[in-house]
Amino acid sequence: MNRVVIIGAGECGVRAALALRDQGFDGTLDLIHGERHTPYERPPLSKPNADGLSLTPIIGAIDLAQKNITLHRALAATAIDRTLQQVSLSNGENLAYDRLLIATGATPRPFSLGSHEPPTHFYLRTYDDAVQIFERLHKGSRLIIIGGGFIGLELAVQARLKEAHVTLIESAPRLLGRAVPAEIAAVIEARHRAEGVEVICHASITDITALGTVTLHDGRVLESDLIVAGIGSLPKTELAEAAGLTIDNGIAVDRTLRTGDPFIFAAGDCCSFPHPLYDGKRIRIESWRGAQEQGEHAARAMLGSVDDYQAVPWFWSDQYELGLQMAGLSGDATQTVRRDLADGCFILFHLAENGRLLAASGIGLGNNVARDIRLAEMLIAKRAHPDPAALRDPALKLKSLLATHGG
Ligand SMILES: Cc1cc2nc3c(=O)[nH]c(=O)nc-3n(C[C@H](O)[C@H](O)[C@H](O)COP(=O)(O)OP(=O)(O)OC[C@H]3O[C@@H](n4cnc5c(N)ncnc54)[C@H](O)[C@@H]3O)c2cc1C
Repeated sequence: MNRVVIIGAGECGVRAALALRDQGFDGTLDLIHGERHTPYERPPLSKPNADGLSLTPIIGAIDLAQKNITLHRALAATAIDRTLQQVSLSNGENLAYDRLLIATGATPRPFSLGSHEPPTHFYLRTYDDAVQIFERLHKGSRLIIIGGGFIGLELAVQARLKEAHVTLIESAPRLLGRAVPAEIAAVIEARHRAEGVEVICHASITDITALGTVTLHDGRVLESDLIVAGIGSLPKTELAEAAGLTIDNGIAVDRTLRTGDPFIFAAGDCCSFPHPLYDGKRIRIESWRGAQEQGEHAARAMLGSVDDYQAVPWFWSDQYELGLQMAGLSGDATQTVRRDLADGCFILFHLAENGRLLAASGIGLGNNVARDIRLAEMLIAKRAHPDPAALRDPALKLKSLLATHGG
């Protein structure tokens, strides 16, 4: 194998390129980057530090060049020809491949008012989006966030730090409905309310004017200077679909992250894969660490490994001084056990009917729950059936449970 092309220079594509070089691949390596900036981290876009928003590179362009990775900046891949094994670029160039990785990520789910897009609103996915949003956020400015998901909530934190007025509109009965257990969502909602964020759940928007006047289903009228919609993301699958690859909540890959075409792989936010830890259920994960790990796994798979990708899904979010972490998937859990820690921190362990630990989610000050979530993650990976009483008891170290389960 001499030529690898990677479409998308986000977390996944870049980590795959670096892993290929680390694994000794010395052939041609092309990284197609639809954006104009040096490849950058997305999580800091909703968590700027005290100095404000800045671009956090994943790796510098010079470092990429030193590793002989060709970065095609501000160019889109426009088509994949599977017969000729080549990718067309928006500048008319074609790149031949022996192995292709599609790491095209995701794009914000569009917010619409019935059949039309509202006249004024933003999304937060790219650095350019973040620049547009943050230059409009000032003391006293009125921000309306549509959607009570992680990104909207992290943006609310930033807006409050700038002393903007924030109203968050969520159509579901509670925040973070798709993402975290109600007990954790309640802590986050209470923290936002204490900070002065107006949270309106069970609400839908019926109209938005060009001047930013928002009308809710119950007739309430809200004025705004800035509207940001954060109602989820959609996997970027158009190229794969046009190339005849199977799409199933993302580009469908097998356990090794390979598509139905033996020369094409997909990884990161754009793909769905059967997870061995969850009865082979097909899942799609939008997570920073997931994108990294999948990129690295895809690199090994392109070099011939047939190992399953079976990392435990993991996600974190920062909300003011609170840190939230989740490991695993709790969807099939029938029992939840709560472990109370110091300073109001707690961890929820989600168990299957047969007692197997499927997931753990925790919230606490800063990084307080990180260690226990890490240990829970190791128990999940071992398919452990820990004693619920032991999980509940904060005096009992999770590490000892790991030892019981062969850790
Ligand atoms: C604001 C924000 C905050 C986040 N915070 C967290 C967090 O706290 N914790 C966490 O775990 N995760 C977080 N995430 C999610 C995490 O950043 C993503 O899961 C991760 O970046 C996905 O990486 P990816 O490489 O799969 O996709 P992306 O990062 O979306 O990268 C894909 C790249 O491919 C490019 N591309 C697409 N199509 C083409 C084409 N045809 N040609 C060329 N290029 C193309 C795109 O422009 C993009 O640059 C956050 C995401 C955002 C947006």
